[in-house]
Amino acid sequence: MGDSAYPASWYAATRDASADRPPLAARIEADVAVVGGGFAGLHSARLLALQGKRVALVERHRIGWGASGRNGGFVGAGFAERSGALIDRLGLEHTRRLYAQSQRGVALVREAVDGLGRPDIRMGTGKLSVSRTNQGPGFTDRTRALADTLGATFEPWDTSRVRALLDTSRYHQGIHDPSSFHIHPLNFALALAADVEARGGTIHEGTEATGLSREGSTWRLQTPRGEIAASHIVLAGNADLGRVQPRIARAVLPVATYVAVTEKIGPRLAEAIRWAGAISDTRRAGDYYRVIDGDRLLWGGRITTDTREPPRLREMMRGDILSVYPQLGDIRIEYAWPGIMGYAPHKMPQVGEIQPGLWICSAFGGHGLAQTAAGADAVAAGILGDDSRWRLFAPFGTRWAGGPFGQAATQLAYWSLQARDWWDEKRQAKNAETLRT
Ligand SMILES: Cc1cc2nc3c(=O)[nH]c(=O)nc-3n(C[C@H](O)[C@H](O)[C@H](O)COP(=O)(O)OP(=O)(O)OC[C@H]3O[C@@H](n4cnc5c(N)ncnc54)[C@H](O)[C@@H]3O)c2cc1C
Repeated sequence: MGDSAYPASWYAATRDASADRPPLAARIEADVAVVGGGFAGLHSARLLALQGKRVALVERHRIGWGASGRNGGFVGAGFAERSGALIDRLGLEHTRRLYAQSQRGVALVREAVDGLGRPDIRMGTGKLSVSRTNQGPGFTDRTRALADTLGATFEPWDTSRVRALLDTSRYHQGIHDPSSFHIHPLNFALALAADVEARGGTIHEGTEATGLSREGSTWRLQTPRGEIAASHIVLAGNADLGRVQPRIARAVLPVATYVAVTEKIGPRLAEAIRWAGAISDTRRAGDYYRVIDGDRLLWGGRITTDTREPPRLREMMRGDILSVYPQLGDIRIEYAWPGIMGYAPHKMPQVGEIQPGLWICSAFGGHGLAQTAAGADAVAAGILGDDSRWRLFAPFGTRWAGGPFGQAATQLAYWSLQARDWWDEKRQAKNAETLRT
């Protein structure tokens, strides 16, 4: 399939066999047409097919070709926007309900993985968010209070507990969420697609949606060699929607991030990382990683609005790993790949009905494995007549993300946040040094 081949990643190397699905080459009818074969589109299609809707999904490349088949694999509640900012903007009750919808997303992913008869897709349990700066004595109380406020399951861990599991002096306190887990995302996407088809849905790969028009209550979705007539359309194209809906495409900013997987490291990896869950640090654009395949390290990090793959990606990622775990020494990066996240300016997903019968489920930013399921659940409920869930997302619109100006502003904001993280860490290290002498 030409440029639709999966990028060389550990996920692609260990993916389940799945035959190419032919492009759409006819006029067909469906109850719902879905644009995008990532998690947002696949969950939408599956949840609607489970309710007896006839769904047809088109994917420009292949199932899970975008962010959904390339990510860190962490499934957890919450959103890219911080809960404190949401409480300030929307108030406590609304924020609680949004958080509960993200928890529903976690539950939907868990149920799907179990229900699809593929328990092996789930690769580990628990997530630890570790701080690179000392959070001070109020950390435990603050974390517990936030968990109580949100109805969340996360709990504070002190520095000694974190360092007993992660052999690095970089980290201080942590927040442990036992309800999180991590998965093989590409195999999950492929399993979801197979389930959509098993329930009567149709999926066309290598098929770009190029245009959209409306006649009465029927939407017509154009593709280069076919068309789908449907009562509802779900746009789930992330940052790459293109000409099918240029206004929406401009409302999502593409931001690149990277993942690397090491060679099999052997026992010294388990000496450095004695934890089978997922780990991330709490910097604004921090590292996220987990042990996979027994003794490989999967490491993600960095963000940039320059979506081209950096020429020395492997060296960059290796340097990031060794800056936290220098004891791993001479490790080889076996796979490294980029992925594109879609961010709206408000850092929240775009979920809801934007015209009668035209739905959006997009912009899941850096936090999308559970949130795509939560968004799809809200959209599917809306199509079936219950508007209460997608209206939770209504305060976050689909306004223009600023094109090249938005990219420049995002890059500047990222550099300034990175500089602040760097400064906080340096200042603490210097204070600690002064106290020691
Ligand atoms: C490297 C990386 C690491 C990440 N790590 C995590 C993590 O650990 N945990 C987490 O929760 N989130 C993570 N994320 C974010 C998460 O992967 C995304 O939020 C989520 O996968 C988005 O799903 P999606 O369906 O919206 O987009 P995508 O998976 O990008 O799918 C959109 C699909 O739509 C198709 N498409 C677009 N336009 C058209 C069109 N016009 N016609 C036909 N098809 C079209 C595209 O080809 C694409 O396949 C990460 C993202 C990246 C890139």
